[in-house]
Amino acid sequence: MPAAHTGVELRVIRLETRLLDIPLVRPHKFSVATMHSQAVLLIRLVAEDGVVGWGEGVVPGGPWWGGESAESMAALVERHLAPMVVGQDVLRPELLARRLERLAGGAPFARSGVEMAVWDAAGRALNVPVHQLLGGAHRDRLPVTWALGAEPAKAVVEEAGHLLAEGRHTSFKLKMGTSPAPVDVARVTAIADALDGAAPLAVDLNGAWDEYTARRWLPALADAGVHLVEQPLPAEQVGGLARLRERSSAAIMADESVWTPGDALRLATSNAADVLALKAGKSGGLSAPRRIAAIAEAAGIACYGGTTIETSLGTAACAHLFCALPALRAGTELFGPFLLDGDIATEPVTYEGGELLLTSGPGFGITVDEDKVAKYERR
Ligand code: MG
Repeated sequence: MPAAHTGVELRVIRLETRLLDIPLVRPHKFSVATMHSQAVLLIRLVAEDGVVGWGEGVVPGGPWWGGESAESMAALVERHLAPMVVGQDVLRPELLARRLERLAGGAPFARSGVEMAVWDAAGRALNVPVHQLLGGAHRDRLPVTWALGAEPAKAVVEEAGHLLAEGRHTSFKLKMGTSPAPVDVARVTAIADALDGAAPLAVDLNGAWDEYTARRWLPALADAGVHLVEQPLPAEQVGGLARLRERSSAAIMADESVWTPGDALRLATSNAADVLALKAGKSGGLSAPRRIAAIAEAAGIACYGGTTIETSLGTAACAHLFCALPALRAGTELFGPFLLDGDIATEPVTYEGGELLLTSGPGFGITVDEDKVAKYERR
């Protein structure tokens, strides 16, 4: 490990990218796509004095979320982001984040991988964990909900029962939007009835409903015991979210509606959400989610720590970010390492009693295992 850097500058020498495919333990279903494996763009940043930082770019199940894919990220990073980052001072992550935003504002997932590598390198160079660069942790563990499968209610209830008995998770989230609303709501109601209040239950529609459908079916979900409804309407329908929120006894969470601090400001001033889902990937790294969380905090809106299905590396990066945010009061879904049937870290992140433990050690505290990387590298 290099000695703690004491100079005022540490220049980036190069960025290397590798494309990995990591299988999932079971298919992960969204309203518009089903994942069977996760494509990961692994980024290795090499700076002066032998300092190295790691980042990863991932999208949830292909380009449907925002147009990016692991393949498009690779091209963008190699041809456009890396040439800009090389020669820049890695000890100024916020400045670099702004430059990446100006260069590729519409490609947050690619930027996120690069920004992660910058923060990791900065932490390693200064021999401190990244959360200390972010002002220090407000907590050192994060509750982690689990996304239950898309199987029939009986199988899902069994899965939930096992996880509760093991103490692996204490709350659950169900994906909705693949079936017609009455069928979907009946399935969720059956699961909620069977769980009988044993664990808080949230649902994520990924924007599958219109306002008419949501007005018809949200009360039934709330009556069944669903406490949080994520993105019932498409991303741009902020007015609709505000109207639903006024009528709904379940809390409304915005995910696809909030990518940027500007989006957060619009949602806050429109009274359109009780909770904002933060994700490093959709917002371009660690910098923009901090600004979103500051707006949420000022508006009295809680934040939730979202996932785009990261390995232990990306999960640790998100944990450093989320632990440093006081507004992160609605829990997280940092379950990537449980869903991935393989990892790239020498020591994967640790979970205990339904919570993810913040890693210690410089940077994100994760050592990337070259043999594991080689195992999953795309050929
Ligand atoms: Mg979501």
